[in-house]
Amino acid sequence: MAIKLQTLDDTAMVLSKEVAALPKHIAEIEKKLDSHQKRLDLDRAALAANQRDRKKAEGDIQMQEQKVSKLKSQMLDAKTNEQYRAFQHEIEFCENEIKRFEEQILELMGRSEALDSAVKVAEKALAEEKKEVDGEKARARDLTAKDQAKLAALQADRAGVAKLISRSLLSEYERIRKGRANVAVAEVINGRCSKCNMSVRLQFLQELRAGNAIMKCESCARILYINEPEDFSDIAPAQA
Ligand SMILES: [Zn+2]
Repeated sequence: MAIKLQTLDDTAMVLSKEVAALPKHIAEIEKKLDSHQKRLDLDRAALAANQRDRKKAEGDIQMQEQKVSKLKSQMLDAKTNEQYRAFQHEIEFCENEIKRFEEQILELMGRSEALDSAVKVAEKALAEEKKEVDGEKARARDLTAKDQAKLAALQADRAGVAKLISRSLLSEYERIRKGRANVAVAEVINGRCSKCNMSVRLQFLQELRAGNAIMKCESCARILYINEPEDFSDIAPAQA
C-alpha cells in the first residue's frame, strides 16, 4: 500500500512540476515576443524620424530658394560693383546650402529604404510569432486543465489508499518523504537499496523477506520492500 502511495505521489509530482513549468515557459516566449516588438517599435521610430528630417530638409531648400530669388531681384538694384559682388556671394552661399540639403535628402532616402524593408520584414515575422505564441498559450492552458484534472483524480485515489494504511505507517511515510526528496519507499535490488545504493546485510534481507515488520534502509531510512509488492502489503497491516 505504501508502494501504491509512492507511485501516486510520484505521478502527482511529475504533473505538479509540469503545471508549474508551463507559466514559466509562457513567460519566456512572451518576453521574446516583447523584445521583438520593441525592436520593431525602434525601427518604426527611426523611419518616422527619417521622414521628419526629410520634410525639414525640403522646407529648408524652399526657404533658401526664396532667399535666392529675393537676392536676385535686389541684385538688380545694386549701385556698385562691390554691392553686386556681395549679392553674388550671398546667392552662392544659399545655393551651396541648397546643394547640402539635397545631399542630405538623398542620404536620408537611402537609409529610409533599408529601414522600410526592415520594418516590413519585422512586421511579418512578428505577426507569425504572435500566432505561434497564442497557439502555445492555448496548448498550455489545455495541458494545465488536463493535468489538474489528473491531479484531482490522483488525490482522490491517494485518499482512498491512505485510508487502507495504518495511521502510524502513514505518518512515517509522510515524514520520510519530506526529508528524502519526496521518496519514502525504496526497492531492494540485487541486495542494495535502490535509492541510496547501500548494500543490505544478509540477516536484514532475510527479515525483510520474512515480511513481519516495516523495515527501513539503515543508510537512508526509507521504507524498503523487495521484489514482490504483495510482500509489502502483508507488512503494512502488521504495523497497524
Ligand atoms: Zn537506502
